[in-house]
Amino acid sequence: GAKGDGGNRHRFFEPAMNEEARQRQILETELRQVLARGELVAHYQPQTDPRTGLFQGAEALVRWNHPERGMVPPDHFIPLAEEIGLIGAVGEWVLHTACTEACNWADDLSVAVNLSPMQLRDRNLAATVLAIVEASGLAAHRLELEITESAIIADDETTYGNLRTLQAAGIRISMDDFGTGYSSLSYLRRFPFDKLKIDRSFVQNIPEDRDSVAIVEAVAMLGRRLGMTVTMEGVETEAQRAFAATQGCDQIQGYLISRPVPAAVIRAMFSVTLPHGLTA
Ligand code: C2E
Ligand code: MG
Ligand code: MG
Ligand code: MG
Repeated sequence: GAKGDGGNRHRFFEPAMNEEARQRQILETELRQVLARGELVAHYQPQTDPRTGLFQGAEALVRWNHPERGMVPPDHFIPLAEEIGLIGAVGEWVLHTACTEACNWADDLSVAVNLSPMQLRDRNLAATVLAIVEASGLAAHRLELEITESAIIADDETTYGNLRTLQAAGIRISMDDFGTGYSSLSYLRRFPFDKLKIDRSFVQNIPEDRDSVAIVEAVAMLGRRLGMTVTMEGVETEAQRAFAATQGCDQIQGYLISRPVPAAVIRAMFSVTLPHGLTA
């Protein structure tokens, strides 16, 4: 229970509360066993150059393949994993799995892995990440780590120390969901991110919504001027791809290209190369 209601035992017997707490307790118990039971899976969503269509890499997105609930999306269990102290172990599993998988791809393709801000507050994170990458055999420059902008904790020296160490080792650092946080612009001064991922919420109403068009134009220019790779997330239509191309975006990611798919499917996608460098 939350602070302050610990002494109020009657709350505990409220039927609605009881059922909600019971469900959470079940999920928590199951989540604690998720690694031992091998129920986590990584899916991969490809990223392409909006002008040529060439593949540039993929983002690893974790799912919980629950025996009764089916594929549980990350938004439904990552916050709980953070709360109960499991995010470190889950994050290490995703990193190890994604780096190992990327070793099967052509060596000009990169893999992106999401980091929880809580992982960044661990003093040992950089050393742990570097050990996992090294053990996988993946070249560090092929790995990108994505940090969701809305969740970065300001003024945390451990966080920025980890980011600097990882970047110095050749790993690229991306700001994910750009534009959704409280202090988007100040983060860009605090750390030299390698990539800016423009959040899907700004992309989804392009080209009809003139304000969205203006925002994405300005953010793409900002990213370019700061020397960052710019990615448009959530590209679902051909018009949005064309817009990304004319705005000089380096990469697109979204359902237009592919939904996140299992490892075997992304491997097949990446291995299909047509003549003249065109990719299916
Ligand atoms: P994200 O990193 O911004 O990932 C993109 C999300 O948008 C994915 O949802 C993806 O399936 C979805 N998406 C991609 N293209 C489109 C599109 O064209 N249209 C629409 N409507 N959606 C699209 P997913 O896989 O459910 O992941 C949700 C979030 O969970 C991720 O957002 C990321 O913040 C977090 N997450 C995923 N995997 C991990 C992980 O391994 N560790 C941590 N800490 N967080 C993770
Ligand atoms: Mg991401
Ligand atoms: Mg994102
Ligand atoms: Mg997101």
